[in-house]
Amino acid sequence: MANNIFTGGNFLTREILCQDVFTPEDFSDEHKQIADTTEQFVSNEIQPINGEIEARNFDLLLGKLKECAELGLMMIDAPEEYGGLELDKVTSMLVTEKMAFSLNFGLTYMCHTGIGMLPLIYYGTAGQKERYLDKLLRAEMIGAYCLTEPGSGSDALGAKSTAILSADGSHYILNGTKQFSTNAGFADLYTIFAKVDKVHFTAFLVERTFAGLTLGPEEKKMGMHGSSTRQVILDQVEVPVENVLGEVGKGHKIAFNVLNVGRFKLGALCVGQEKYALSEGARYANERNQFGVAIARFGAIREKLADVTALTFASEAVVYRLAGLIDDRLATIDKGIDNYYALYQKGIEEYAGECAIAKVFCTESAAKAIDEMLQVHGGYGYIAEYPIEQLYRDERVQRIYEGTNEINRLLIPSIFMRKGLHSLALDSAPNGVFSAEKQLLQGMKRIFLALSEHTLKMFGAGVVKEQEIVLTLADTVIQIFALESVVLRAEKACGTVTGQKEEWYQAVAALWTFKARQNFVHAAEKCAAFLTSDALLESIKSETQYRAKGLLAAKRCIADATSQAEKYIF
Ligand SMILES: Cc1cc2nc3c(=O)[nH]c(=O)nc-3n(C[C@H](O)[C@H](O)[C@H](O)COP(=O)(O)OP(=O)(O)OC[C@H]3O[C@@H](n4cnc5c(N)ncnc54)[C@H](O)[C@@H]3O)c2cc1C
Repeated sequence: MANNIFTGGNFLTREILCQDVFTPEDFSDEHKQIADTTEQFVSNEIQPINGEIEARNFDLLLGKLKECAELGLMMIDAPEEYGGLELDKVTSMLVTEKMAFSLNFGLTYMCHTGIGMLPLIYYGTAGQKERYLDKLLRAEMIGAYCLTEPGSGSDALGAKSTAILSADGSHYILNGTKQFSTNAGFADLYTIFAKVDKVHFTAFLVERTFAGLTLGPEEKKMGMHGSSTRQVILDQVEVPVENVLGEVGKGHKIAFNVLNVGRFKLGALCVGQEKYALSEGARYANERNQFGVAIARFGAIREKLADVTALTFASEAVVYRLAGLIDDRLATIDKGIDNYYALYQKGIEEYAGECAIAKVFCTESAAKAIDEMLQVHGGYGYIAEYPIEQLYRDERVQRIYEGTNEINRLLIPSIFMRKGLHSLALDSAPNGVFSAEKQLLQGMKRIFLALSEHTLKMFGAGVVKEQEIVLTLADTVIQIFALESVVLRAEKACGTVTGQKEEWYQAVAALWTFKARQNFVHAAEKCAAFLTSDALLESIKSETQYRAKGLLAAKRCIADATSQAEKYIF
């Protein structure tokens, strides 16, 4: 683990060293063992029955969830005192990543172990945990999370569902409709948000068997066909007061804190999808001949393999850097203290901005990666027989749920601006193999700080209404975090590997830096143009000088290796 504990957002004002970031190259033997167990479970138990899961054979799916629980894969985030394993976030993300290869079984798993179970783990009383947690960990009960309503999605706190305390004070009476609840069709325990007396937003643990709870029909979805998405309809549902989760009126804390982890887990799932897409694309490119040769020999196809490898490397670097940051922070909290989970929540909330970055960056990278790998398949990519067709349909929703990417983008600058970031503190001029990339990163950070200062000067607190500008600021931050994660990962790895592997790390860093600079300049120039600042436009030019050396050779090096391995090479 890293030596320093960094607060959220301070990568924007500090020079971060490679030894300060956790990278996939730092996985321990234990991490790798759990990843292997998950991989084997998915390839032996889930992939062969994907067709049946797609056809919504939920009995089969539930049986597989139980098998998954027997392997301990549901217990990673749960406290030891309730039979959990309480492993680190790196493990949790690694298992989620491997679950991506199970296609939409992975969504069911992620929902159950994430938004389905975490509200109870983080906010439940001892009594509530005793009643439900063990069953959830064994998949004898399945969890669902019901925040969205027909009239309130992004505006989650605008929920209309109500809860009224009974005259004898023994229970609340819930009424309303929750929309798009994943796992709803076979869930046994729903975390439902409703307003007590139409005002106090509150979370409730609601059992499926409670009278008055019914479900709408399965939604007919574009993708994720093998997952359940239904309305949860509440008609005079009596929920015992013991089933209030957390405090009355504090439901927003649960909703938003759980979403932080949900976003970050989704990032990990996307890493797995990118790897899956890449292996499908690379294999297909070797098998398919046109004009008398394998299409993998064409530069057009090879460039896609190289670019998707770089995208995947970047997503992976982002997700595990964030896992390391959160793990370091959580490791400072004494497990024995009473308010452990309150501090734990604060620890995760510290990185709410980075969680939003991971969500946006990884969902968009997965979309791009899957789209490009479908293109490699030509017409066959459009045919259901090939997994890439399903990945393409399944991926789309990821930019919508766990907060749309617009909502996440709007959050990012405001979270960091609230931290009062001002100037860039630099200890030293960049040196070493990646000095040019680090120089560029310093320039990017100075530009972000200048753009946000200018924006704040112009609009003050009214900046939240200037959404077009805020979105461009978010894009600059996302590019900084991702590029820094890539460069530091490559630098750290190059300290331990030699030969061909070292070449790969240097090549992928070169590839990504070229792309990230383009993305950054595009967003920064748009922001400066919105702000009508010629001075900022000039600074962007001078601060983002970077001469890409050997770009074509770097792409070919990565493409060759990917093509040969027929999978992600790092
Ligand atoms: C398959 C699936 C599974 C889901 N699973 C769950 C689940 O398990 N539990 C759950 O509670 N929910 C779930 N959802 C709901 C999901 O979280 C919401 O769909 C999402 O939050 C967006 O809400 P909405 O669909 O009402 O869109 P809206 O909020 O109506 O948004 C429509 C558009 O307007 C934009 N927009 C909205 N507000 C703003 C704003 N202030 N500024 C700028 N742009 C804005 C959005 O970005 C979007 O582009 C699921 C959805 C799907 C499709």
